Amino acid sequence: MKINSVKLSDVTTYRFGGVCENFIILDSENDLPKLKNLLQNKTNFVIGKGSNIAFSDRGFNGNVILPQFDQIETKNESEIIVGSGVFLPKLSRFFKANMIANGEFLIGIPGTVGGAVKMNAGAYGWEFSDLVNSIRYFDLNSFEVQEIEKKDLNFSYRRAENLDNKIILSAGLKIEQGDTKEINKLLSKYNKIRKDTQPPGIYNAGSVFKNTSQFYAGELIEKAGLKGYDIDGVSVSEKHANFFIAKKNAKASSLYKLVQHVKESVLSKFGVDLEEEIIFVGEFQ
Ligand SMILES: Cc1cc2nc3c(=O)[nH]c(=O)nc-3n(C[C@H](O)[C@H](O)[C@H](O)COP(=O)(O)OP(=O)(O)OC[C@H]3O[C@@H](n4cnc5c(N)ncnc54)[C@H](O)[C@@H]3O)c2cc1C
Repeated sequence: MKINSVKLSDVTTYRFGGVCENFIILDSENDLPKLKNLLQNKTNFVIGKGSNIAFSDRGFNGNVILPQFDQIETKNESEIIVGSGVFLPKLSRFFKANMIANGEFLIGIPGTVGGAVKMNAGAYGWEFSDLVNSIRYFDLNSFEVQEIEKKDLNFSYRRAENLDNKIILSAGLKIEQGDTKEINKLLSKYNKIRKDTQPPGIYNAGSVFKNTSQFYAGELIEKAGLKGYDIDGVSVSEKHANFFIAKKNAKASSLYKLVQHVKESVLSKFGVDLEEEIIFVGEFQ
């Protein structure tokens, strides 16, 4: 275990955020018992790759916990156990190397297994919940390791329930034999779609707003004439209107203002109340 003072801008894809004085890196599950004394009377936030969050420029006055559990173990022919710190593109490549189907959609999502469980990350008709059998977690109220079945996580679009104040430790994922040619075909297809339609993965956190069955957020933002709209170095991407791109050294507060502006514009033009997919952490008002 390591405890450092960390600039949160160094640990998130947006490169936003002030300092966290208590940034706790867990190297293995053996570190968990030490948390009981460390975490008293502070707010806790668990982080993966920070690819879906924007920390406040004022920093985070609590503990940020980074579990670096990156094991991938085969349990049997239909299940693998994957540490919550495993990078999703790495997991996708593991699936490919072992001729396992259905992990192709993970190739371009720059987060971890923990983040993918909590966000029910998805793309191209797939969601992380399609792979999950069960989750092991460390409960920050009881300080015990427990297991939860998929059905009790109530997965829905970009959402899992019953995981508040818990550190996801690992996921049991179902696996099925795939065909190398088919896997390669899908990987190339998905890589190409991303390259053609989305800006590169730096200085953003993917889709800002959730889509629904009635609308694509990006389409509404584009129709509202907001492509390219900029507030102090954070702008609506010209390539994909649901991606907001920051310039180097831009501020999280500018992203926050841009998000409010876009929400107000879309509400007044189309009567649609967009819901954020990215998570603002810390003080923004
Ligand atoms: C270029 C780009 C493209 C993207 N494309 C997609 C896409 O196609 N589909 C999609 O769904 N998302 C996409 N995203 C968003 C993001 O990558 C996913 O939401 C991802 O699953 C977040 O994982 P993370 O490890 O970065 O989580 P973080 O951003 O670090 O955290 C996200 C949430 O998960 C929680 N969390 C993380 N790890 C743990 C853990 N071990 N235990 C408990 N809670 C935890 C955090 O507390 C937070 O609530 C994209 C982002 C970028 C930058």
